[in-house]
Amino acid sequence: MNYGNNPQVKQLGAIKTIALVAHDHKKDDLIDWARYNKAVLSKHKLLATGTTGKLLQETLETPVERLLSGPLGGDQQIGALIATGDLDMIIFFWDPLSAQPHDSDVKALLRLAVLWNIPMACDRATADFIITSPFMHQPYEAVVPDYSNYLNRNIHDIKP
Ligand code: PGA
Repeated sequence: MNYGNNPQVKQLGAIKTIALVAHDHKKDDLIDWARYNKAVLSKHKLLATGTTGKLLQETLETPVERLLSGPLGGDQQIGALIATGDLDMIIFFWDPLSAQPHDSDVKALLRLAVLWNIPMACDRATADFIITSPFMHQPYEAVVPDYSNYLNRNIHDIKP
């Protein structure tokens, strides 16, 4: 593949590390989707926020690493995994009709996923497209965005 001027890539293996999160009104939807895709999901390393993870374990009968519940820091734990390059993709069924007490954490997670070019499905149709991608079963070279201009910025040029 030709990545132009940006040679930085992250090698994803055939087995992906996938985070799954669903807000309360979206949990049935995610669990139904996960049940339908059990065969593919069980081939990968799964982790989830606390309550979502409990439901997934019961449904998939496969190991799911459970982080803290989302509002108690679980979203931030997933964000940290993204920032350190330890997460390959995220299935995040957030609820567009309910205010969340941890809205700032939700926004932070969405932002970090985009910042680091992490495949993210926020609805079932996108999740279907991702889970049926050939890249789910083979290595993939993910472009790592180049933030060197930002990192090397001259902070003395920044006017108050
Ligand atoms: P939960 O967290 O899986 O623990 O319910 C999800 C969330 O609201 O972020």
